Amino acid sequence: MCQLSKDCEGVSSDSPRKVITMSDASSFICPECHGQLLQQASGYVCVACNRVYPIRSGIHLFTPHGLVSHTMEDIRAWDDPDSGRAEHLEPWRALLTKEPLIRDFEENVLSQFSLTGQFLEVGGGMCWASYLAKNRFPDCVVYASDVAYSALLRAEQLSGLMKLQPDFHLTLDVQSCPFPDDFFDFVFGSATLHQIPDLEGFVRG
Ligand SMILES: [Zn+2]
Repeated sequence: MCQLSKDCEGVSSDSPRKVITMSDASSFICPECHGQLLQQASGYVCVACNRVYPIRSGIHLFTPHGLVSHTMEDIRAWDDPDSGRAEHLEPWRALLTKEPLIRDFEENVLSQFSLTGQFLEVGGGMCWASYLAKNRFPDCVVYASDVAYSALLRAEQLSGLMKLQPDFHLTLDVQSCPFPDDFFDFVFGSATLHQIPDLEGFVRG
């Protein structure tokens, strides 16, 4: 079990584990209306509501409109290099500040599972958990996410430093995920899940 229960939370789906072969970008749906997405060269467009979701610097941008205020504050903190976030340090220095969490995840969480299928990290920030999961379970399809585009840019830097790549870097809001129901086999969030107003609904989805 994770020793840092306040800051480190793992959620495993209660539904029977299933093998999903749909591991490419066609698995995404519109986070606003759940319509089908048509992939284009620069991103996606929803065939139902015509909203556009671009891909920028390799990051799939699925953050919807109408975010709540504390989520907007989180995004602003990521965008502001003077906000005091440890993640604004050089990637290796930022990683050092997370050492206890990283060790705990590696030694006490990942070691408890044999992961297959789809892995989602929510509120990942620099998304170190996604990289460790991909390293230990290379057959897993790993989605590294945060609500802030600036966070994912930092995550990509760390990914290069660690020489570990997830299958997808994407922005999303956990209340409006761009995935069909029951899609994920494992969802991980560090200091994140307590911020989700409808956690039960999120886990069901
Ligand atoms: Zn739509």
